[in-house]
Amino acid sequence: MKKVISKFGGTSMADITCMSQSAQIVIDRHSLVAVVSATSGTTNKLIELSVVAKKEKSWTEVQKLIDVIRNRHQELIDQKNFVTIQKDFDLLIEEMTSIAKGIFFLKDCSVKALDILMSFGERISSLIFSEVLNAKLTEKKLNKKVELLDVRNYLVTDHFFGQAQPIISETAKRMQTLNSNPAEVVYVTQGFIGQTADFQTTTLGRGGSDYSGALVAEAMQADELEIWTDVAGIATTDPRLCKLAKPIGEISFQEASEMATFGAKVLHPATLAPAIRNNIPVFVGSTFAPEAAGTWIRKTVDNGPVFRAVALRNKQVLMTLTTPEMLHAHGFLYKIFKVFNDHQISIDAITTSEISVSLTLDNSARTTEVLSQKIIDELSAFSEVKIEQGYSLVSIIGNKINHTAGIAKKIFEHIENVNVRMICLGASRHNFCFLVDEANGPEVVRKLHHGLGFEG
Ligand code: ADP
Ligand code: ASP
Ligand code: MG
Repeated sequence: MKKVISKFGGTSMADITCMSQSAQIVIDRHSLVAVVSATSGTTNKLIELSVVAKKEKSWTEVQKLIDVIRNRHQELIDQKNFVTIQKDFDLLIEEMTSIAKGIFFLKDCSVKALDILMSFGERISSLIFSEVLNAKLTEKKLNKKVELLDVRNYLVTDHFFGQAQPIISETAKRMQTLNSNPAEVVYVTQGFIGQTADFQTTTLGRGGSDYSGALVAEAMQADELEIWTDVAGIATTDPRLCKLAKPIGEISFQEASEMATFGAKVLHPATLAPAIRNNIPVFVGSTFAPEAAGTWIRKTVDNGPVFRAVALRNKQVLMTLTTPEMLHAHGFLYKIFKVFNDHQISIDAITTSEISVSLTLDNSARTTEVLSQKIIDELSAFSEVKIEQGYSLVSIIGNKINHTAGIAKKIFEHIENVNVRMICLGASRHNFCFLVDEANGPEVVRKLHHGLGFEG
């Protein structure tokens, strides 16, 4: 039997009906592990809780938010009369309240504290989901046992709170102990969270449950990873931006990675790395239409069109570094990359001239540090630093992009009136990207989606 790991996103956990549909998928697909996100909106509520606890004078406001989070989940438990998990649920709420109290009294919320606070989203949803699955298995008289795992005992990470990196070998060692369990066990566990070797809770970054699913699939040497979400697969662009977005039946690892990295929220950017390392095919489908074709992401696919999809990535920071001293000198790029490397910050797109370099950075957990004075000081030691915010990166993803004649004309003729701030072409066969003002991003995507023939 194939070893299948299935990941369910927030909308698939939204209420009992959604959880029940997800449970049915776990049964139908014979999943070995179900990796689940927090119920939709809960991670945002937990972040709000951290902000309110830090700034409010009176505890009443904080308690109100705790009650909102508790009541939403208590209703799910009550709806199904899941008395067996009540005690565990109460303990989680108690622990969450203690963390909120710590933040409230300290009037400080470190990234470490925020990570443990956010972890309750997945810890609560997985507890309830395990009961929903249990009930469904009993109802269908299936001889399977649900085991709820605390993923923190398995997914080991570094100490980069807010966007931790997994320690692959240790994670694999721990997860493989689960492979020896009998076939009638189905595991339910949390996405998004992990733990350092010295027991500190971490998170993998927003939207990180997809990545968790892939890491579990890698660690358990699975045959397939399934990402169950609220859209029936990867589309030619974000269906929320463009109603005429079309589902893609099959796409290569490289193209899908470019899409994920360059803003297609349907997959967390890091998701495909473990799948690529281990050649694990990934399916993306809708929990609400499991019979729909969905998208298969594979190492090799039958067709490779020049234009496959358009992606948009907001909140881009554009940094320009200039130094006239570098005219006919060498080592400028080395110095720049060294600073970013020392701070473990990844650069997305880059263009250079003799004396200046422009690069884009994502304004995410690892890179908010970019705007810190320390990094600016280090870069200022050898260059003039200019930072501009409020940009979006538009990417056209496809094949042989850097070997197709007239590609720039084909793209820019549809957006003649838009001010393009930076263009990157050539480095990848699969990507052409450029920077525009954030306000123009959605319109540019729609024009390109139409103009490049995705709707024809
Ligand atoms: P989940 O909570 O299941 O992880 P997400 O909201 O993170 O779900 O991701 C699914 C969303 O990704 C879709 O609702 C869609 O709006 C968005 N999305 C962005 N780009 C694409 C794309 N190219 N194809 C499909 N969905 C996309
Ligand atoms: N719950 C987390 C988030 O909202 C992780 C995820 O859903 O993938 O970011
Ligand atoms: Mg997601």
